[in-house]
Amino acid sequence: MNKLLIATNNNGKVIELQDLLKDTGIRLLTPADINLSLEVAEDGSTYAENSSKKALAFAQASGLISLADDSGLEVNALDGAPGLYSARYAPLRLPPFSEKMGGEKEGGDADRRALLLQNLKDKPRPWKAHFHATIAIAKPTGEVVLAEGNCFGEIIPTERGSGGFGYDPIFFIPELNKTMAELDMVEKNHVSHRALAVMKAMPVLKKMFGV
Ligand code: IMP
Repeated sequence: MNKLLIATNNNGKVIELQDLLKDTGIRLLTPADINLSLEVAEDGSTYAENSSKKALAFAQASGLISLADDSGLEVNALDGAPGLYSARYAPLRLPPFSEKMGGEKEGGDADRRALLLQNLKDKPRPWKAHFHATIAIAKPTGEVVLAEGNCFGEIIPTERGSGGFGYDPIFFIPELNKTMAELDMVEKNHVSHRALAVMKAMPVLKKMFGV
């Protein structure tokens, strides 16, 4: 059984994880590949709880070893917010996005970036921040292995770049003089929180799959 299910419905994460795991000899599947539609409530109080819950739910629903990621952006000047709630930071669309996007009610990535900048505008710069990722690899039997990674940088007030997803256009990495959205996939997958977590988990994954 040389197949690993990428246990997420977030397309940005799927693309990065597929690239990170592409040369391992492990066959990767997405939920769409197996017609699996599963929404898991992220109601844990830690990244580890949420990623374990997601990986286990997908593993048990599919019968496949499953890898989930729970991640977030922690901004020092906001006491670590949006953190665990990064994906749900703007529950409603903010103007002008509400009009542009045809009046949809649920906020998207652009709304979340706008809300973050709104909440930071009176705070002194630099707005230091880091991305955190905890990945969980679960077997259908219930065994779970965790690994984490962080990527440090700062939030900038003007968007730069068009790659990646989420908060990438406003997350600046001083050492590279680029935002995360200005990195190509190879570059992002060298430095990102998710990449570091996957690299840490690699020995365990290889052992699990005998590759
Ligand atoms: P969750 O893991 O499903 O709770 O979602 C994590 C959220 O954190 C994403 O929806 C993004 O808003 C944000 N996030 C996590 N990783 C990244 C990244 O690599 N770039 C930009 N935003 C990210």
